[in-house]
Amino acid sequence: MTEVVILGAGLGGVIMAYEIKEKLGKASKVTVVNAGHTYTFVPSNPWVAVGWRTPEEVSVDLRPVFQRRDIELRPEGAKRVHPSENRVELNDGSDLAYDYLVIATGPDLAFDEIEGLGPHGNTQSVCQLDHASDAKAAFETLVKSPGPVVVGAVQGASCFGPAYEFAFVLDTALRQAKVRDQVPMTFVTPEPYVGHLGLDGVGDTKGLLESAMREHHIKWITNAKVTKVEAGTMHVEEVDEQGATKTTHELPFAYSMLLPAFRGVPAVSGIDGLTNPRGFVLIDKYQRNPAFPNVFAIGVCVAIPPVGKTPLAVGVPKTGFMIESMVTATAANIASLVNGEAPRAVATWNAVCLADFGDDGIAFVAQPQIPPRNVNWSSQGRWVHAAKIGFEKYFLHKVRQGKSETFYENLALDILGVKKLKDIHIESAE
Ligand code: FAD
Repeated sequence: MTEVVILGAGLGGVIMAYEIKEKLGKASKVTVVNAGHTYTFVPSNPWVAVGWRTPEEVSVDLRPVFQRRDIELRPEGAKRVHPSENRVELNDGSDLAYDYLVIATGPDLAFDEIEGLGPHGNTQSVCQLDHASDAKAAFETLVKSPGPVVVGAVQGASCFGPAYEFAFVLDTALRQAKVRDQVPMTFVTPEPYVGHLGLDGVGDTKGLLESAMREHHIKWITNAKVTKVEAGTMHVEEVDEQGATKTTHELPFAYSMLLPAFRGVPAVSGIDGLTNPRGFVLIDKYQRNPAFPNVFAIGVCVAIPPVGKTPLAVGVPKTGFMIESMVTATAANIASLVNGEAPRAVATWNAVCLADFGDDGIAFVAQPQIPPRNVNWSSQGRWVHAAKIGFEKYFLHKVRQGKSETFYENLALDILGVKKLKDIHIESAE
């Protein structure tokens, strides 16, 4: 019996469990360790934060579906991974042994790196469902007492699509509440230009996003380093191309949502050979850790170097399609190892993203992620909002059903009409 343990039941971990169970069948025991027994669809959090979704609508109780699929759920959460002993220590003090471990723990949110940042400080967050619920209460206060808004991401962040998305969703929600005229909005970002997205732009994301921000009356500050957030005042240093301070801004705000920098979760960070200094899991092209070859990693928790040099730290985003491709490659590679073969599946890591504006939106496809690219495409239209709703409904449906097929690949084929985006590449046997 092959024992596979998956850490984290988020976007990557849940479909990982379905796919590996399907591949290995009854001769395997698949266990998922998560903090709690609920899956939440993170991409819907911006909608929760303005009341367009309830937390219940974007949550799934994993117990019945895991039971149907013969997958064990350990909701205690992991305290520490011990890769040299092939075991995971859980928060209740018990241990879980494994033959193969897949780390899918997502990000640890580094709010503490900037004074006053985050839900325990003076800004809102949409990174977690509970944060988004709190952000909704703050949004309601803003509607009652309108004032300036600051939205964006801080230095070291890697998740820029959702920052733009939230700015436009908030703009739409404030227009619907008929108070937008009383809310000056500023977007702050460490990106060197609007639409860089941690990918040095995709297609014309610079032009599209700048134009959309002008049309929606959202001002912006790029190369922005947030130094401190006081209640009602954001302190920002704008840097030049060398990273030296060019000017400083004190931005008053009645409401602010800033995405933090990400780092690895405490259960895996600081383990020699497993993680980099930031706590992200080191992997080779087969999603496998070089020091501990029975450990794999998928999703936001993996280490990916930045695309080129920027004056401030700007990370590379890890989006749905890329994560789905990591899952499929990992399942294929573990199955190969179980069958005594070498791993040969390589995730393609294409970036496909939908940034919803609430009534409109921007989509982009970067294949591969690092320029120069074979596909470098972006587009704007009302269909993006509809496609994002489709993504949400479809993904939640497959989590409830216990299915693991790739949504984004079908979307890219059917709607975007771009050349087939392979989710994995199988190397030929030596
Ligand atoms: P997560 O989904 O964050 O899952 C990690 C899981 O691990 C969580 O359940 C967590 O509780 C668990 N965990 C952590 N530590 C432990 C531990 N010690 N023990 C046990 N469990 C643990 N991508 C897109 O493609 N399209 C979008 O529209 C999109 N929108 C986004 C919107 C927002 C606001 C954000 C933040 C990201 C968005 N992304 C989007 C990017 C990405 O797809 C998501 O962040 C996705 O949820 C990442 O999946 P993941 O599995 O790596 O991590």
